[in-house]
Amino acid sequence: MSLTLTVDGPRWRAHLESFADTHPGIVPVAKGNGYGFTLGRLARKAQWLRDRGHDVTTLAVGTYDEIGEVASRWAGDILVLTPWRPFIESETVPFDASVRKRVIHTVSRLVDLEQLLTDAPTARVLLERTTSMKRHGMSSRELWEAGEVLRRHPDARLEGIALHLPLAQGSHLGEVARLLTDAVAADCGIETVWVSHLTDGELATLRQQYGDFTIRPRIGTQLWLGDRGALQVTATVLDVHPVERGDIFGYRTRTAPKSGHLLVVSGGTAHGIGLEAPTGESSIKARAATLARGGLDAVGFVRSPYSIDGKQRLFAEPPHMQASMLFLPHGARVPEVGDRIQVRVRYTATSFDRVVLEG
Ligand SMILES: *Cc1c(COP(=O)(O)O)cnc(C)c1O
Repeated sequence: MSLTLTVDGPRWRAHLESFADTHPGIVPVAKGNGYGFTLGRLARKAQWLRDRGHDVTTLAVGTYDEIGEVASRWAGDILVLTPWRPFIESETVPFDASVRKRVIHTVSRLVDLEQLLTDAPTARVLLERTTSMKRHGMSSRELWEAGEVLRRHPDARLEGIALHLPLAQGSHLGEVARLLTDAVAADCGIETVWVSHLTDGELATLRQQYGDFTIRPRIGTQLWLGDRGALQVTATVLDVHPVERGDIFGYRTRTAPKSGHLLVVSGGTAHGIGLEAPTGESSIKARAATLARGGLDAVGFVRSPYSIDGKQRLFAEPPHMQASMLFLPHGARVPEVGDRIQVRVRYTATSFDRVVLEG
């Protein structure tokens, strides 16, 4: 009845282990919907990697609200990627002292550093430096001033510097080199550089060029979703209705443009199933050619992420909250109620009803 993510357990675990092996110091990222797996499952898997002897000391979560999901399933340090702000602490106090000791705060503004260390003098802090992404972070001058603040708070624990780089468009190395020069100039004892979105080659070069720094790559997608062959997403056929051309159906009382079948399948807007733009043929000329061919998309049917017998099928109408209606033209094999069909999804934007780990 559900939208299901089925995981080939042995294959997935083998990928996680080999990825952790080739990325020493990796900081697994578990945030949002847990990349489709849920945060709790990722926390347990990070712990499993650690128990198996991989160099995984810290798990990164996106927000303070996510700490509760991972803290009891993972025993190591917890880095919060969203920078600390004065209003965050008061909203998320429920952790006991033992959890607090494991939390590493990202700090991206001088005022926040002052405030956090005034409230919690022994806090563990990671200073974020702005990158070309310009999301959060301190300038080179602010980083230098942060060094001054830290000298006034000797009980604070500086965990390093964080660099959140844009997704690769050419090499990041020039930018990282400039930022690390600032880190050295700040003279506040930075030993560890926490980076995001560097390629394996860039990581290797950095380790070579900056042997004094420990480099910790924060990685989510490539770790959890790096072997798509281990993952399968399926929906269930809930109903099948034959239709003739001209028959009326759906919330919007559309008429069937041809004979065929309407399929009601599990998965809808609540799962993150959305209308997909027809791929490729977006130009006016291509659209005209489609109309001339009299294809189903010419009557307004939009490509869906569901496929049957290897062919991507069309939505008969926009997805409903928990189910979707597909149109299967005459001639195609008609699945039975209860059959499972393949769905292509964005894992980071999909809520599965069930995650089934096989083996
Ligand atoms: C989400 C996030 C990551 C992980 O990104 P992936 O592309 O999933 O590997 C790394 N760093 C920061 C700061 C993030 O917010």
